[in-house]
Amino acid sequence: MKEQKKLSKGIRVLIYIGILISVIVGIFLFSYLGTSVKEENTEIQKNKRIVVLVSIDGLGSNLLSSTNTPFLQSLIDDKEILSTLEMKTLVQSETMPSHISMVTGLTQNHHGFYTNTLEEDTPILDKDTIFDYALDNGYSYYAFLTKSKLIYLLGGKEGENIVIKEEYSDTVMDDIDTMVEDEEERILVFIHLKDIDSYGHEYGWESKEQLSVLKELDRELELMVDDFRDEYSDYERYFIFTADHGGEGKQHSDGCYDCRRIPFILFNDDSPSYNFKNFTFSIYDVACVVLKLMHVTETEHLDCVLDTDFSIVNEEFGI
Ligand SMILES: [Zn+2]
Repeated sequence: MKEQKKLSKGIRVLIYIGILISVIVGIFLFSYLGTSVKEENTEIQKNKRIVVLVSIDGLGSNLLSSTNTPFLQSLIDDKEILSTLEMKTLVQSETMPSHISMVTGLTQNHHGFYTNTLEEDTPILDKDTIFDYALDNGYSYYAFLTKSKLIYLLGGKEGENIVIKEEYSDTVMDDIDTMVEDEEERILVFIHLKDIDSYGHEYGWESKEQLSVLKELDRELELMVDDFRDEYSDYERYFIFTADHGGEGKQHSDGCYDCRRIPFILFNDDSPSYNFKNFTFSIYDVACVVLKLMHVTETEHLDCVLDTDFSIVNEEFGI
């Protein structure tokens, strides 16, 4: 009896050891397989995408030149990059209505905003914006604003992803860097920079003061692109550089030729490029380009249209 007990105890110990070994081997196999599945996912997720829309307040097309804005001009001169200097902003060439068209894809008639100020009793924007479409389509978004009234564009949204800092671009680049996190796979970033507009009102459009601040801004933009390139090296990266209006003398509100003529540049940094070129469009079409880059296809209800030539060169990216 005693011997039998001893024997069965021995067997039990053996069984326990066996179970323990199986568990250890199981855990090892599981974590190994887990890693390889993860690696496979990283391969698949090369379609990470960041779309950065930069609105340079007051940047009329006539302010760009190879000597003063070498970075932006190099993008314009690049045949692979979509750009036009002939985009038109609204006849009421002012910051608020123009930006509302830019982010809603609607004409001024359809968004119905006719002042350039935000009053306490102004109702919240009730039209869908690129930020709403971003959220509906699996994108996280960030908005960096250097004029507080532009908070209106967010339609009442709040959060750490919205930053208002009424400063010039030479002091906000670090804030932009800190604001945008690379934890998400699909990111929309909206950046508003006020320098050119402020210097225009103070010293005049095309004044040496304004041009000199623009030269500095051009450098900042190039550094900003470099930063995004480093931080988002495994993302498809798209940068749109555009404006809400230009200006003439010390104003821009009357729809003058240089007030309405603004640049549009779509810089696809190391990403699939588009074969559209030599067309003109209006500020509300910017929204459609952003939506296209975010793979949002239902835009028929908007005023913005995508030129039929707006198609991807490399179809395999599936944009
Ligand atoms: Zn202004």
